[in-house]
Amino acid sequence: MRTSNKKCLTITIDGYSSCGKSTFAKEIARRLKYKYIDSGAMYRAVTLLCIKNNIISRDKFDIKALKLLIAETDIDFRFTETRNRHETFLNGKNVEDEIRTAGVSDYVSQVSEIGQVRGKMVTIQRRHGKEGGIVMDGRDIGTVVFPEADLKIFMTASAEIRAERRYKELQAKGIDADFEAVKKNIEKRDYIDTNRKISPLKKAADAIVLDNSDMTVQEQMEWFEELLSELNYEN
Ligand code: C5P
Repeated sequence: MRTSNKKCLTITIDGYSSCGKSTFAKEIARRLKYKYIDSGAMYRAVTLLCIKNNIISRDKFDIKALKLLIAETDIDFRFTETRNRHETFLNGKNVEDEIRTAGVSDYVSQVSEIGQVRGKMVTIQRRHGKEGGIVMDGRDIGTVVFPEADLKIFMTASAEIRAERRYKELQAKGIDADFEAVKKNIEKRDYIDTNRKISPLKKAADAIVLDNSDMTVQEQMEWFEELLSELNYEN
């Protein structure tokens, strides 16, 4: 990993499901005034498209249809004034809330295994990152999307703690959830994400591990500030 006073770094945050990657990544982007991209939202949007087009269900996955559809699919992030944040748009429609539902979580890892889907997502992700000054979180950002990133972080936390966090998050949003089902979904996604053939979730050789099992967001930010100064990055 390079150490310099370079501005506009490319920062990648990969890790297991529900580790708090996006909270941490958003906080870093806010602190550094960088762009933040949630790559998981993109895979979720494709999954929503599959559900809506009857491409995937409990006993069906029409990969051929998905490969045709993905070519003409557009995913981007636009600022929503009323909610004061960037949200995910699928073919011009705001899908930010729909992509967070359990139905999408159930199928997203299967959809993310498909090479054509990944190819298209990686192209969009690289376009967003071409000028640096970006924090992107996901599963393959430090290994595949930006292997030359300035700073790579790999996040982890115990499965129990991750399930608890996710469960509380859903409850806070008023979404009815079952703790065991939430935990099962996290474990299933971790399994598929780490075992898939294309771009599996793994720590990049030069990534720095952050186990945030017992850390608050504030403590994670203090850890990050220390890291920046250790690496001599002026920001
Ligand atoms: O980050 P999030 O949990 O929303 O991601 C949902 C799913 O999208 C992951 O479980 C994984 O299957 C897929 N994903 C991926 N590569 C990424 C980001 C997410 O395969 N870079």
